[in-house]
Amino acid sequence: MKIRFCLSVLSIILLLNACSSKDVKPEKTIVKKDIRKDIVIKKKIVKSVPAKKKKTTVWISGVGDLMLGTNYPKEPNYLPPDDGKNLLKEATGLFKGSDIIFGNLEGPLLNGGKGFKNCKKCFSFKVPEHYVNHLVKAGFNLLSLANNHAGDFGPLGRERTSQILLKNRIEFAGTEKQPYTTFTRKGIKYGFCAFAPNFGTPDLRNIENAISTVKKLSKVSDIVIVSFHGGAEGDKNRNVTRKPEFFYGENRGNVYEFAHKVIDAGADVVFGHGPHIVRAIELYKGRFIAYSLGNFCTYARFNLLDYNGVAPIIKLNTYKNGQFIEGKIIPMLQAFKKGPALDKTKRAIKEIIELTTKDFPETNIIIDKLGNIKVKGTSNNSNFD
Ligand SMILES: [Zn+2]
Repeated sequence: MKIRFCLSVLSIILLLNACSSKDVKPEKTIVKKDIRKDIVIKKKIVKSVPAKKKKTTVWISGVGDLMLGTNYPKEPNYLPPDDGKNLLKEATGLFKGSDIIFGNLEGPLLNGGKGFKNCKKCFSFKVPEHYVNHLVKAGFNLLSLANNHAGDFGPLGRERTSQILLKNRIEFAGTEKQPYTTFTRKGIKYGFCAFAPNFGTPDLRNIENAISTVKKLSKVSDIVIVSFHGGAEGDKNRNVTRKPEFFYGENRGNVYEFAHKVIDAGADVVFGHGPHIVRAIELYKGRFIAYSLGNFCTYARFNLLDYNGVAPIIKLNTYKNGQFIEGKIIPMLQAFKKGPALDKTKRAIKEIIELTTKDFPETNIIIDKLGNIKVKGTSNNSNFD
């Protein structure tokens, strides 16, 4: 009984501590969860509270497209004021507590180079190389290079981007040279691969290839994260059709089939982007899918009107085998020529609730008005808000 009483007091102290902070602190979640569920761990805590507990869950944050400004074409100028230093300022604090911060790098990091795309009307992006510092400062440590702009300046752009990310210790994949990668963070082994329907990237439409990549990664990783840049674009294509999607005459993939098949093969988190608007989320076999995270920080050259300005951060808490525990949608909005900022109207949450209810009525998650995502029948998300 004494031990039981001590534990109750300890639980209350820990709970009070958790409530006193506005920041999301993963360690506190672990303590709460362990105390509730696991008697063995309770005993460990009573004996001695270790300074650093072994990690049992991880926090993974994901956002959509990143293009912080382009030095091509030179005139007019498409670079942000203050050299882009403030674009990710507000987002940076909101990423805190994440083990992984993922985004889709929509354009090469390159200072020199000549236009590679042979087209008059299309857009080419070339992000100044030192802008990598903004990504590092914000905490990004995982980027997809599989998209329709990574090849804007050809092999030179891809190569230089890879070198810069390597030097800055940002993990990446999504090129022919590096279709996937593995790395370890805080004792957890991650596998990551990225796909798109575009030249020079692992092909989103070649699902058999994606399955074999994920199977390989799954054998050597605790958590496999898969990124895709696919699906039709814009506000007329907000729904997941569960069919191949065509846009500008191109097959942009069957993102539903892709996401399910990679999870069947061992993927744990699937982050989609490409349509420039947000789409539904889904839990499939206990694994999380975001069908489109939308634009996140896309300076000047992007349409940010209406649905296009919605820029959520999705924060996931998973077990160290990648199984979803709970999540949070942080609603942000981009205004033209400004970075993402918190949105008091919570539009991202409203849209994701609307789309998920419509497209995946069968999925086993509930999203509340504050953006908390939980598995139906559980209530373990009190550490948020
Ligand atoms: Zn794109």
